[in-house]
Amino acid sequence: MTTASDSILHPFTNLSQTAPAPIRTFAKGDGLYVIGDDGERYFEAMSGLWSVSLGFSEKRLADAATRQLQSLPFYHIFMSSSHEQVRELAEALIARAPGQLAHVGFSTSGSEANETAVKAVWQYNNVLGRPQKKKIIARWDAYHGSTALAASLCGLPNMHSGFDLPLGPILHTGSPHHWRHAKPGETEEAFATRLADELEQMIQREGPDTIAAFIAEPIMGAGGVIVPPASYFDKIVPVLKKHDILLIADEIICGFGRTGTYWGSELCGIEPDILVCGKQLSGGYLPISATLMTDEIYSVIATETSRSGGFSHGFTHSGNPVCAAVANEAIRIYDERDIVAGVARKAEVFHAALREAFTGAEHVGEVRGVGLLGAVELAPEGDPRRSFADKAGALWARDIYETEKTVVRAVHDAVVLCPPLIVEEGDLIALVERLRR
Ligand code: PLP
Repeated sequence: MTTASDSILHPFTNLSQTAPAPIRTFAKGDGLYVIGDDGERYFEAMSGLWSVSLGFSEKRLADAATRQLQSLPFYHIFMSSSHEQVRELAEALIARAPGQLAHVGFSTSGSEANETAVKAVWQYNNVLGRPQKKKIIARWDAYHGSTALAASLCGLPNMHSGFDLPLGPILHTGSPHHWRHAKPGETEEAFATRLADELEQMIQREGPDTIAAFIAEPIMGAGGVIVPPASYFDKIVPVLKKHDILLIADEIICGFGRTGTYWGSELCGIEPDILVCGKQLSGGYLPISATLMTDEIYSVIATETSRSGGFSHGFTHSGNPVCAAVANEAIRIYDERDIVAGVARKAEVFHAALREAFTGAEHVGEVRGVGLLGAVELAPEGDPRRSFADKAGALWARDIYETEKTVVRAVHDAVVLCPPLIVEEGDLIALVERLRR
């Protein structure tokens, strides 16, 4: 173990010289494990950053990258250029996408993919001659990335404070976390109805003709693995439709089987107008993300580009051939190994073990999750919704990390889990047992 070097701005790390964060250096990956430069093996129960779906040593992904590096290591897709890998990937995504999604733009990160979604929505409304319809409604507890616009969409105060954010026409409505935000005695159904009513009131207050889109993670990830009430989206979607407001599904964590369905949108019964995915798209190995949209949105934007000469948006590495080749291979592996069905089966074991170990245990407020996403929320006895001042989860997570050699993540008072999709039932039971200890 070494201490933080001041030459690196480690994201989401205390960079202070007076309290340097200990830095652990990792040297190798091996299936479900990462190995430190001191030889210590860690069970990686967070899939890196909710991303490494196929484990840390999938040779097929490495081979796909090598082959592509040796044939065409780079070509861009600007100004009508293309290449085989990006074409194949676009087709694969569209074939698997929910609803009517028929076009796809590529970026390198989730943040950029969300920015692409918002800029597409803004241009769409400009072309339709309603420039005032620009506001984006996001939700408290949401995470959408850390560029200025994506951080503005986040519903986490630490993403705004100190940066003069949010910027732009961004609004936030209630988080669908029943356990934390329901009124005493309020059922999940009544809570979902209230959230839909509050959304309607916000839209009326702001003026429906000023609201362009609603952005939501089907299951919230970095905000603490928050599963909305079963009827939540059934109540939200009609409000959006009534006011001609587009639905953007941020599937950066949920996509590619994480929730036990191919998309979180399927689990939640929604057909988004725009879907954003990344992370597990390349098995988490290389930076690539995608923004899928309906033909309706694409066609409107295309009208504008015929006037202006081009869609003035994109990145040097949009659709990078090496990233695309690895993504194509990851998608083939998901299909061949029926990863989605495997997650659905293993999730039952995972959640049964979590419930058995923690439901009703001292200082446990809530056990929650879906698919291979889980959270154990700590709470003071007698008042389940009071906080330990955001310290308990962090301390617990650090202890598991140090003594049980398991990587988990603390979100406020919750310990969250997101193991690689290739985990086996026995690994999940052993993981829960380590947490219980
Ligand atoms: N959206 C969601 C739901 C995420 O969880 C994340 C990252 O964790 C992002 C967007 C941002 O992705 P990136 O860090 O690749 O910019």
